[in-house]
Amino acid sequence: MARNTQTFVCQNCGTTYGRWQGKCDGCGEWNTITEETAGVASAGPGKAPRKGRAFALEPLSGNTQEAPRLACGIAEFDRVTGGGFVRGSVLLVGGDPGIGKSTLLIQTAAMLARAGERVVYISGEEAVAQVRLRADRLGLAQTPVELAAETSVEDIIATLSTGKTPRLVVIDSIQTMWTDTVDSAPGTVTQVRSAAQVLIRFAKRSGACIILVGHVTKDGQIAGPRVVEHMVDAVLSFEGEGAQHFRVLRAVKNRFGPTDEIGVFEMTGGGLAEVANPSQFFLSERDRGTPGTAVFAGIEGTRPLLVEMQALVAPTSLGTPRRAVVGWDPSRLSMVLAVLEAHCGVRLGGHDVYLNVAGGLRIVEPAADLAAAAALVSSLTGASLPADAVYFGEVSLSGIVRPVAQTAARLKEAQKLGFGRAVIPEGAQADSENTGLAVASVSTLQGLVADIAASAPSQAERSPDVPTQNQGIGRAGRSVTRMR
Ligand SMILES: [Zn+2]
Repeated sequence: MARNTQTFVCQNCGTTYGRWQGKCDGCGEWNTITEETAGVASAGPGKAPRKGRAFALEPLSGNTQEAPRLACGIAEFDRVTGGGFVRGSVLLVGGDPGIGKSTLLIQTAAMLARAGERVVYISGEEAVAQVRLRADRLGLAQTPVELAAETSVEDIIATLSTGKTPRLVVIDSIQTMWTDTVDSAPGTVTQVRSAAQVLIRFAKRSGACIILVGHVTKDGQIAGPRVVEHMVDAVLSFEGEGAQHFRVLRAVKNRFGPTDEIGVFEMTGGGLAEVANPSQFFLSERDRGTPGTAVFAGIEGTRPLLVEMQALVAPTSLGTPRRAVVGWDPSRLSMVLAVLEAHCGVRLGGHDVYLNVAGGLRIVEPAADLAAAAALVSSLTGASLPADAVYFGEVSLSGIVRPVAQTAARLKEAQKLGFGRAVIPEGAQADSENTGLAVASVSTLQGLVADIAASAPSQAERSPDVPTQNQGIGRAGRSVTRMR
């Protein structure tokens, strides 16, 4: 009797079950579990296991050259990969459908093909004509990229194994690939994992670099191929807000390079264009002098990056006031609000709070605390912050403003972009010498709140429509700000 090999696999996280259930215990998702046949090559009980082949072992001290990299010539892409594609490595590029992954990769493929490398682009999503049409629109139709619309991994490997080994192979996308070795339908976890395994084995054996494209779900996880993330050498995510023109390529995992670097691109009619100076780009449309905006001097990877943080604090009509945030960590916002209430006498219980990082960028640094707090207090009091000032610093639960890394680099970038002042943590003052900026240091959040409240327009100057939001501020601490 053949044993029943039916298993039930969560398509989100890959957890397997003996029978179907509605909710996955592994990741908490509903309706993600489907039936799959765990039919790996039929090694029945009666079959003798294959006898292994002996291979040569090598000493650890052996002579291996530094992994040779292949720079694609798109500087923002090379920055994220850590200087180019490593021979025999496999990258997974994830992103929302329609964000421009195929555009980015066809441009990359064309750059390398132009440089004389053999580049193969396999599309499982689109017909050859569609890929050609896109290349034509991007003005890349005349580049010697080799193209195919295929989904069978065995056929693809057989094709790639003939002739000169390609330097780069793009597989668009891994969800459409399938292999004969398993019975499951294409797109299921088992198929995606097995297909990726075969392709990875080919990359290691041949030295070709393979880029796998993976679509992500609404919550930013790479669907299905999440199980592939552990198998590949690097996972890059391609992000951007639908309506915005800019795109960010971010390394989530990288065996051969840094994981905090980002590459910034702008989507133009002629494809993706590199943004060499992202700060300038993100600050290009600023609401100068409007209450509720503060410029944050951040660091992304090795690069300083200036972005505007916008806050709106408005009296609420709801029993439970709203807290909405775009581009920043919501729990970080809750923390800053709690510190403002507990230590600075700022009452926000009757106000809706909205916080937005302009341009649609996503900030993960705690250093944004001070800029967020400044924007919030500015909106609440109606006091505009100086248009030529930048803010950064981490706020602790006790309201202390803590120094953050790379103060000098942040200040230098601000100065380069024409800013004249900076509000920084007191502990970071030593690093702020010779930057040409007027540096004000704050030791506590109370100090910052007092300073902003002091510059708030008096009630007489306000239009009658504007409620006296100053009432929201209780006795704030003594100002500890010193201008130098
Ligand atoms: Zn799951």
